[in-house]
Amino acid sequence: MLIISTGKHCSQTASLIAAALAAMVLLCLHIPSTLAQSAPETEKVPAIAFAARLVGDDNRARLLVDFDKKVDYEIYLLDDPKRLIVDLSETVFSLNPDAKRLSSPLVADIRQGTLEPGKSRIALDLAQSVVVEKKALRKVSSGNRHRLIIDLLKSSDADFLKVARKPVETFRPITVAPRNTSGPKKFTVVLDPGHGGADGGAAGRRGAIEKEITLSFVKRLRTALEAEGRFNVVLTRENDSFVSLGSRLETARNVKADLMISVHADSLRQRSIRGATVYTLSERGSDALARALARKQNRADLVAGLELPKIDTDVTDILIDLTRRETEAFSKSFARIMVDQMATGIRLIGNPQRSADFFVLKAPEVPSVLLELGYLSNEEDEKLMQSEQWQAKVVELTKLAILGFFKPRMGQ
Ligand SMILES: [Zn+2]
Repeated sequence: MLIISTGKHCSQTASLIAAALAAMVLLCLHIPSTLAQSAPETEKVPAIAFAARLVGDDNRARLLVDFDKKVDYEIYLLDDPKRLIVDLSETVFSLNPDAKRLSSPLVADIRQGTLEPGKSRIALDLAQSVVVEKKALRKVSSGNRHRLIIDLLKSSDADFLKVARKPVETFRPITVAPRNTSGPKKFTVVLDPGHGGADGGAAGRRGAIEKEITLSFVKRLRTALEAEGRFNVVLTRENDSFVSLGSRLETARNVKADLMISVHADSLRQRSIRGATVYTLSERGSDALARALARKQNRADLVAGLELPKIDTDVTDILIDLTRRETEAFSKSFARIMVDQMATGIRLIGNPQRSADFFVLKAPEVPSVLLELGYLSNEEDEKLMQSEQWQAKVVELTKLAILGFFKPRMGQ
């Protein structure tokens, strides 16, 4: 179950830090939290922290965090070690994965994640004694956006101790990745951003290109999953390069993936059709639309002049057959969880769980699904898929589905 992902939790944390420490850098945060399994009530939808920055000098620091709606918060200092804690109602953090690591004289590190279902936390490890000079949550411009503002002022140790709480060691955020590998088992998830390089995939009327949407979504999802500390995440491509269907599938097999999610945003002939869809493998296909899509997708390798490799489908060994059946069951089970989870937050196509003969889903021992985020042939879908907030929401829902899928095996 080894993995070769780039990021890892360290860089995860690092980028968070970056968020804070940045000298005026705006980050797109994108990291969810929460385990509310099926919570259709809108009240239960977590807030999204979609941007954060930290500015300041040797004596002061100002942390700004932007939310898509009002959040409940509590801010306090903790001693031993020195930390500033921001407890929040359930929040999804969406972090720009490309953020550079930065440093600040007052803050050594910043982490965020789920504290417990319904509660999230940002923790700043302090490099100096500080006091909170000001804190406020303000409505920003129109809409429902709110900005949390926290001003820190360098202080003496004595002043810090006057206000700091004693640590009550019950809170270690569960989504912060463990610093060593002796924790519970990690699951390997392969994320496969559809298309790339010469194969751009579908293109929308507003200019969206499938290969870009799939890559940006997948990177956000990786960030969110890594923040949970329970997953090794491997991408089949990290940048705008062509990767054959065969090698995507081989990646999943080589790393012994526990789950593979291939992400697309294709076009359909029928422009009115829209909404997310989750596909699993089947030779026959659940319907004409699914079959047409699979045919089109399986031709992707032709762009590079490649032929699809042959996968031996003759079942001569009963063990292989059993493995396939088990894989199929897992794939369908995940697809169902995924559809249920998606249904709580975004629009789905009619009959959102479909199947067809997608080549990339054929690793016999890897549960695999293909997620169509939406269809670029539909302008409404295109608009949504270009929106950072929408992507953040779908990342959160997908992450929850993944957590739900592995939960019985997490044994915590
Ligand atoms: Zn596609």
